[in-house]
Amino acid sequence: MILSEFDIIRRYFAAAGARRDDVAVGVGDDAAVVDVPPDRQLVLAMDTLVSGVHFPEETRAEDIGHKALAVNLSDLAAMGAEPAWATLALTAPRNDPAWLAAFAEGFSALAREAGVQLIGGDTTRGPLTVTVQVHGFVPRGQAVLRSGARPGDVIYVSGSLGDAGLALRRWQQGWSPISVDEQYLATRLNRPVPRLQEGRALRGLAGAMIDISDGLAADLGHILEASGVGATLQLDALPLSPAFQRVCAAMGETQGARLALGAGDDYELCFTAPAAHREQVERQFAAFGCGCRAIGVIEERPGLRVRQSDGSPLVFEHGGYDHFAAP
Ligand code: ADP
Ligand code: MG
Repeated sequence: MILSEFDIIRRYFAAAGARRDDVAVGVGDDAAVVDVPPDRQLVLAMDTLVSGVHFPEETRAEDIGHKALAVNLSDLAAMGAEPAWATLALTAPRNDPAWLAAFAEGFSALAREAGVQLIGGDTTRGPLTVTVQVHGFVPRGQAVLRSGARPGDVIYVSGSLGDAGLALRRWQQGWSPISVDEQYLATRLNRPVPRLQEGRALRGLAGAMIDISDGLAADLGHILEASGVGATLQLDALPLSPAFQRVCAAMGETQGARLALGAGDDYELCFTAPAAHREQVERQFAAFGCGCRAIGVIEERPGLRVRQSDGSPLVFEHGGYDHFAAP
């Protein structure tokens, strides 16, 4: 059977994700209609994944579906928001039922888990590109912005850094992950876990927050700029997973922490909080599987400084990935 655009929508996307009572009209009409709770602000984020740019071309359809939603939910997490709805613009080169079913299931499984209903979108033919917009809520005035970091605040990151970046680097070298450690890294690249609970728990506790998509140095740099402050990080304090450390060791890579400083795609949270909140932050995270680590302090002096274990400053490339940077 040859699938038409409308077959695709009906079959794979009409019932994707959670069922929510606040959706009056979902997929199927000219537009979706939803109820916004009166005491909440709507929080919106949109991210596009382009095949060969944001994921290797051979990435499995299920992983692409998962990741397209996950990177968006990660943006809501970094605002302290609770997700509700998603819209999906899919451009695909073919109407391949197996690919579409796997893609929709990857998307839908995460959407159900996060309580998100897919309420609309667009389906077109062309080079594989996936755009998702997510819609969520925060209590009025409680979104956690990039601009709230103050001198003396402690800087934290959730989980571990560098896993996805290392997987991507190995992939570009023609890697196929075999060992348990390599598969762990590949999972971190292909199936990022949006830190939604963690982000919400940090409302009222974190001064500033961002999710790490382009690398810690670049993304923390956005907090520093928005807040008009600087920072010093301890290179040794960056949380590295056991798998990351073992794969680095096996590669003869001795600069793992430096790699973790610049590596993107981890979708961990980076946030700041006053030193007086440290115990409370750590207590909150004790309940979450991913943990969090204090990695540095906010300072008045602008710029990002990184100190090595012997106290000497690290000289490093600052920028994250820029799609329009000169080659
Ligand atoms: P229009 O031509 O008016 O833009 P479409 O034919 O594009 O309408 O879409 C029909 C319905 O299907 C709409 O409700 C739209 O939101 C939904 N839809 C289209 N593509 C997708 C998709 N990939 N995921 C979810 N909903 C979709
Ligand atoms: Mg349309």
